[in-house]
Amino acid sequence: MVIKYQAVKGVKDILPGEIEKWQFMEKTAREVFELYGFSEIRIPIFEMTAVFTRSIGETTDIVEKEMYTFPDRSGDSLTLRPEGTASVVRAYVEHNLYNPPSVVKLYYMGPMFRCERPQAGRYRQFYQIGVEVFGTENPEIDAEVIGMLLKYFEKLGLKELELQINSLGCDECRPKFREALLEFLKNKINLLCEDCQKRFERNPLRIFDCKSVSCHDATKEAPTIEGYRCDNCKSHFNSTINFLDKLNIPYVKNPKLVRGLDYYTKTAFEIISKGLGSQNAIAGGGRYDKLVEEFGGPPTPAFGFAIGVDRTATLIQPSVLTPQSPIPPVFIASLGERASQKSFELINNFRQNGIRAERDYEKGSLKSQLRKANKFGVRYTIIIGDNELDKGKAILRDMTGSQQEEIDIDIDKIVEIIAKKNSRQSLP
Ligand code: AMP
Repeated sequence: MVIKYQAVKGVKDILPGEIEKWQFMEKTAREVFELYGFSEIRIPIFEMTAVFTRSIGETTDIVEKEMYTFPDRSGDSLTLRPEGTASVVRAYVEHNLYNPPSVVKLYYMGPMFRCERPQAGRYRQFYQIGVEVFGTENPEIDAEVIGMLLKYFEKLGLKELELQINSLGCDECRPKFREALLEFLKNKINLLCEDCQKRFERNPLRIFDCKSVSCHDATKEAPTIEGYRCDNCKSHFNSTINFLDKLNIPYVKNPKLVRGLDYYTKTAFEIISKGLGSQNAIAGGGRYDKLVEEFGGPPTPAFGFAIGVDRTATLIQPSVLTPQSPIPPVFIASLGERASQKSFELINNFRQNGIRAERDYEKGSLKSQLRKANKFGVRYTIIIGDNELDKGKAILRDMTGSQQEEIDIDIDKIVEIIAKKNSRQSLP
């Protein structure tokens, strides 16, 4: 019996036809981010498990139930990366990128892995494009990097986006808010869903992020961080907002916005697409001023975001894609064994000279080869038959009007003829 394999649940292939959107997103990201002074970093797909547990937070959903963790052959616990920031911070500290002290701006792109319940917009292998800025607490960076993200989405042709922003406070003010929230919720525990009952003890801020109606109702009147921010956090948040205003960036302050990762301090934000269903966040990020220190580096404030590529792809209209690579300008049809051998040499010579060329590897009838040539959308087809070959000739057929002319079968000359015709075609 032949076994039919399928991709693992929550994981998908991105096929030609769809991949063009992904290439467009990656190319545009490089262009926009490099304009703002970012350089690319490639981080490994897996890390020591502690890299993620320590940074993302032991009590977050990601660490508690979503990581792909496995022992390697030596018994070390490894984890497929569920996000990029932890690895970039690990690399920043490992390679002393803080030396000499300066602002370091990095971007990355690639797959992430979380064992979540698959649904539209939620996968187990999904892709992120992210950036991180190290070395400044200046709120100009918060606004500037959010501005860069929105510029990026604008270049992708995305519309109807909403920036939601909050400040989650710091080690000084957040514990006070946490206490107030626990106090408020302590008589409402039985209204909370099973998950949030556990979160009550371990990570109560995450209750704000729960999609269940009962948890939403239970936290409707809850205190928010707004009333608890210390002077430093208040002033940082106000400045960030002022800089956003200066950049003419509209925003919605959402004091209940929390993120799924514990390392955030001060600014936290999400970009919501009104065109998507329940999984409508296409990017999220914020400030994480303590993380570098926790990884053993010097005190280094930092700011970053991650874009969900899979969700963003669904919003891209084909009309904004940059034109496809040029159509193959030449097709080679051959009839007979010797002609086929000649075509093999010819097609190679075209490609050596930078001209795209295609042929029918199955060597069907002339009619079916011409049909294939049309399918490729070529302008010219070179037809070589054993009889023509004996006379040192081939036929050059213009597929637009079906005119044909006889040409000498001199490989170098044929390439020259096609190159000349192409350059004439591309004249304005
Ligand atoms: P996070 O790393 O959780 O802050 O997520 C940043 C962005 O990545 C989200 O706004 C989503 O667009 C995307 N994302 C996160 N988890 C998934 C997933 N399981 N499937 C698809 N996209 C995801």
